[in-house]
Amino acid sequence: MAYSPNSPEARDIAYHLHSYTDARRHEETGSVVLEKGDGVFVEDIHGNRYIEAMAGLWSVALGFSEKRLADAAARQMAKLPFAHTFSYKSNGPVIDLAEKLISLAPVPMSKVFFTNSGSEANDTILKLLWYRSNSMGQPQRKKIISRVRGYHGVTIASASLTGLPNNHRSFDLPIANVLHTGSPHHWKDANPGESEEDFATRRAEELEAMILAEGPETIMAFIGEPVMGAGGVVVPPATYWEKIQAVLAKYDILLIADEVICGFGRTGNMFGSQTYDMRPDIMTMSKQLSSSYLPISAFMINEKVYGPIADESHRIGVLGHGFTAGGHPVASAVALENLKIIEERDLVANAREMGERLRGRFHALEGHPLVGEVRGVGLIAAVELVTNKEAKTALEAPGALGGKVAAALQARGVIVRNMLDAIAFCPPLIIKAEEVDMIADRFEAVLNDVAAEVL
Ligand code: PMP
Repeated sequence: MAYSPNSPEARDIAYHLHSYTDARRHEETGSVVLEKGDGVFVEDIHGNRYIEAMAGLWSVALGFSEKRLADAAARQMAKLPFAHTFSYKSNGPVIDLAEKLISLAPVPMSKVFFTNSGSEANDTILKLLWYRSNSMGQPQRKKIISRVRGYHGVTIASASLTGLPNNHRSFDLPIANVLHTGSPHHWKDANPGESEEDFATRRAEELEAMILAEGPETIMAFIGEPVMGAGGVVVPPATYWEKIQAVLAKYDILLIADEVICGFGRTGNMFGSQTYDMRPDIMTMSKQLSSSYLPISAFMINEKVYGPIADESHRIGVLGHGFTAGGHPVASAVALENLKIIEERDLVANAREMGERLRGRFHALEGHPLVGEVRGVGLIAAVELVTNKEAKTALEAPGALGGKVAAALQARGVIVRNMLDAIAFCPPLIIKAEEVDMIADRFEAVLNDVAAEVL
């Protein structure tokens, strides 16, 4: 596409290497350049308006024009724009936020550590657990089990935890001590005729076999998203978390719930751990923590995790870890106001109601020739597209059908993301019924157009 030389698109091509983009293709196509937001809508520099059906990156719970968050940031900026949390320093907003998060935790938690992205949080967790194992005199206990199709970030450690090929290929990852067990996707991975319960039993047995093969004394933790997000919105099959947790308890292996997408209402409860009766030792949080208005992430640890870490820092004299902007007062002030609004407006209940409406509309499309599976919980959903329902395959190369539908939706003013041939929907928690219907109506129209083209 030819852009005039000084246009934002041309300068974006000239100067900007993008995340999750084919750089050579970007040189040809450029980007959609967004300029402003209003509720669940965003607008580009040419005045095209889109309903943001992914809430940015699963994250903008309050939509794109919440003035109270802007005001909270401005107030804190004017009062104390920066403070760090190293060497016995703290600040009001980060203390308030730590207390708030501990009070919201669905299981007893002891301390919160602050970071700036989901990746940094998971990276830090891995480091602190190595530190903890050493503190406990168990230097052999350094392995962590993650899952195929799990997503935990892109730093060297967190990309290693991620179980997706494009996060490893050509990056020389994963690192040592990271193991991947099977994904919980019943529709894709179950044997013919295998029930959800039997599939969950099989996954738990596979996990146990992996633990025994590696040596239970070498495994320190298991990490999982209550509902997998970037791996395709994979809702766990019935009894899955119950059975996985029983195996972890048997071998005294810690459970890390990565709540980066699920946290703060997405699954219809404050945390995904509540939706699936998980009792994690550690919970990773980001995204909806601040509605992504500012970067912030955090993780909570229970007393069992905290104790040996505190002891080791005392032996050494310092916990030699931390980020300049971790516990940033402005990001913390925005997160606090964001959580206050989620509670005041009962947006968790809205997520439940609107999610039911959206998934209801998608379930009504199950007879459509391109719809393979509809899955979701709360206000997160995916529609898996196929061209052959029996074989559960799309006609073309993996991702081609999904890409076509996502592009057609964007042309109709709906931003979604395709994970290969699954179309993900994860709109802001503030969404209203008529906006849900707008997404569903346009999706149905696009499916019909694309079916006419490809079938
Ligand atoms: N964990 C999960 C479950 C995520 O979905 C993501 C981001 N999509 C991350 C971790 C990484 O977060 P970030 O992109 O902020 O590093």
